[in-house]
Amino acid sequence: MNRHRKGRLAPSPTGSQHLGNARTFLLAFWSAMHEGSELCLRIEDIDSPRVKSWAMDQAIEDLRWLGISWSGDPIVQTQRNDRYGQVLDSLRISNRIYPCVCSRRDIEQAASAPHESEPQHEGPRYPGTCASWRHGDALPKEQPYCWRFRVDDQELQFSDLISGTHRLNPARSLGDFPVTRKGSPTLTDRSNSSVHCYPPAAYQLAVVIDDMDQGVTDVVRGDDLVISTFRQIQLINVLGGSIPTYAHVPLVCGQDGRRLAKRHGDTRLASYREQGVAPETVVRWAAGVSGWNTANLSKLSLSELHLQLIDTFSWSSLPRDKVDRLL
Ligand code: GLU
Repeated sequence: MNRHRKGRLAPSPTGSQHLGNARTFLLAFWSAMHEGSELCLRIEDIDSPRVKSWAMDQAIEDLRWLGISWSGDPIVQTQRNDRYGQVLDSLRISNRIYPCVCSRRDIEQAASAPHESEPQHEGPRYPGTCASWRHGDALPKEQPYCWRFRVDDQELQFSDLISGTHRLNPARSLGDFPVTRKGSPTLTDRSNSSVHCYPPAAYQLAVVIDDMDQGVTDVVRGDDLVISTFRQIQLINVLGGSIPTYAHVPLVCGQDGRRLAKRHGDTRLASYREQGVAPETVVRWAAGVSGWNTANLSKLSLSELHLQLIDTFSWSSLPRDKVDRLL
């Protein structure tokens, strides 16, 4: 095994995993096994208002049903608040984060005409309203606030294994971004105590700390997260980590070109399982939409299928377009 490389599976238990998730998990699995890398599992359950209590076990069952294996016990983000708090402390002391009371509406109103280089689906660039705060200044006492990361005004680039080079200056296009959710001031905030309690970590921060702590070197995920990668690269640089390789997988969409959702029918893996669909059918579909000729894959058992796909895996054969063919 290539002990120096490690991939990860990172389901969010905000609902059932669907065909699109299955394809990303399978590509992460085949690529890691092809490289002889380790693969770990992480449950990304910090988005608590949307997390469903049953969805973590169901996601693990889905992965097993698909014949995907990983090493070690999964790490669960909601059990890591202390660790995220330690990192927030270091970022606060080094003035990389500041408390921000702005609401979404404040930000929309403060942002003038949409910025030329602003990625449309990311919302307006944060205009820096609260950025003058410095470590040692008083914390907001009345209004709820999140902690926001100060980005550097610097163009970043990364090379994606599927889509090639991406470039962006996060300061110009996105602005400073939240590393925690919004929370009400605590008693210690009010008394200016040096002991800090933070609201729950936001996705960008948790994912970076987890990848660093788990020693992840290879990230395979949906291409809706390409822009987040620029935020995460700045955080990794500040925290002294190594930038992983990225493969952002084109999303699976319906015939209307929109990302997979309920309107496209029931594509939940748990539903296929209940209906008696064989996992081989889903694995063959994922291979078919990922560039393999499935004629060579019929009649293989689940483990034979995986062996064949692992053996012949190559990022360069993966189509770069969105997938609109469903099962
Ligand atoms: N948990 C995210 C998802 O299910 C993936 C985040 C990541 O891979 O960084 O889409």
